[in-house]
Amino acid sequence: MNAPASNIEQLHLELPDLDWITEPNKVARLSQDFSWFSPVLKRTLAGKQGDIVCKPRTEDEIRRVAAACARRNIPLTVRGSGTGNYGQSTPLHGGVILDMSGYNAFLWARPGAARAQAGIRLGDFDTQARTMGWELRAIPSTYKTASLGGLFSGGFGGAGSINYGPIGATGNILAVRAMSVEAEPQVVELRGPDALLMHHLWGTNGLVLEVEMALAPAHPWMEMIVTFDDFDRALEFGNVLAHSPGVVKKDICLLADPVPAYLTTLAEHLTPGCHAALLIVAEFSEDAALQVIERFGGRVTYRASAEQVTATRRTLLEYMWNHTTLNALKVDKTLTYLQTTFTPGKHLDQVRLVRQLFGDEVLMHVEFLRSMDGFTTCTSLPIVRFSTEERLREIIRIFRDNGIRVNDPHTYIIEEGKAGGDLPQAVVDLKRKLDPHGLLNPGKMRAWAVPG
Ligand SMILES: Cc1cc2nc3c(=O)[nH]c(=O)nc-3n(C[C@H](O)[C@H](O)[C@H](O)COP(=O)(O)OP(=O)(O)OC[C@H]3O[C@@H](n4cnc5c(N)ncnc54)[C@H](O)[C@@H]3O)c2cc1C
Repeated sequence: MNAPASNIEQLHLELPDLDWITEPNKVARLSQDFSWFSPVLKRTLAGKQGDIVCKPRTEDEIRRVAAACARRNIPLTVRGSGTGNYGQSTPLHGGVILDMSGYNAFLWARPGAARAQAGIRLGDFDTQARTMGWELRAIPSTYKTASLGGLFSGGFGGAGSINYGPIGATGNILAVRAMSVEAEPQVVELRGPDALLMHHLWGTNGLVLEVEMALAPAHPWMEMIVTFDDFDRALEFGNVLAHSPGVVKKDICLLADPVPAYLTTLAEHLTPGCHAALLIVAEFSEDAALQVIERFGGRVTYRASAEQVTATRRTLLEYMWNHTTLNALKVDKTLTYLQTTFTPGKHLDQVRLVRQLFGDEVLMHVEFLRSMDGFTTCTSLPIVRFSTEERLREIIRIFRDNGIRVNDPHTYIIEEGKAGGDLPQAVVDLKRKLDPHGLLNPGKMRAWAVPG
């Protein structure tokens, strides 16, 4: 369904006052995200890119682009900061890339809630919210660059999910303001469950203009590395700390040997062969956390106060979640990863089972969090020593055969990833309403076939 080059030229000529990027190298760069973590996506997305990039700064500019694309039948793919992992903002059918980074105003905050334009960086959002003593409930490890619209449309959660679960859990996302792609674009305000119909849909069923998020109290967060000789002790430690209601924390990340060895810039704090817990804890809970560390024989090898973290902007969060994978890939480009969800109550046994089943082929990286239903459990982003795509598929099958859910990160089809199957009819109905011509990020939603 790629639009003819002449259509793109006419679009450019029709809206000369907008900020366009046409230089092929820049367009190619802005067509990419971090899908190269997956050897499968690297292959399947090779050569896919947009034809032109537009960087709007106002709602009116977004409206004019959306209307012109609808009239000329040009595909439109939204980009926040391009830190997604599944080629989510890589256009499969060319067209316009709408770079939302210039549409980034913080709109308002009140106790427990705040709203901003979609292109705002999460770090900037938090800086604003903190002036009132609040912060985002869950942030990805890419928070310094990732956008609010990108988190809503393509993200899951991260630091803070140990308290509030994934961002898609009821009550975390309060509302969105969205625009349709039609000759006369409509703007809708969706609240509560209606807003969630656009969550993690990769910009396929509407252009997100603004997002309103529920907030958490902002605490002074200190950081620690704790090492263990024995993986089981480390795992039990993480689980007990996660379940300790009186210890206020923001992240517990557990890395089994040999994963810590990939964090080369932290090498001085990681003894060879150790298993490591990376912690973000409220400063006033440090003593309580130390009691749990002592109980399990952990050794604190690194400590940074909240003030030091803020002053240096150096945070252990950039070694957690998919930053662990990024750091490992810097050392060994042949590695890849998976995303799995464990069953609350069985989660520790499932982690042990994975280690037993795969040994040195699947290296354990665990993140503790609360499930959608509020149970404290863990998820994992294990690092996989990649051999072939067939073996990768087999590993995924073995996980699933053992009752462990895998959110496949090696696909660009929404239904095959975290969605884990057919999309609810209400999601497709919303697409019909806000993208009746199927121009938004075409080819990613299996429920909406792209005309040949
Ligand atoms: C090293 C690394 C670590 C990561 N860690 C985490 C993590 O801890 N937790 C997590 O959840 N994710 C993580 N991610 C994935 C990603 O960084 C986050 O999901 C992030 O929030 C995406 O934001 P972005 O602005 O970069 O989105 P983009 O990649 O630009 O876009 C993501 C999707 O949202 C769509 N989109 C963006 N803006 C809009 C809009 N305004 N309207 C409609 N659709 C839109 C895009 O089309 C695309 O489909 C990680 C990625 C990397 C590379």
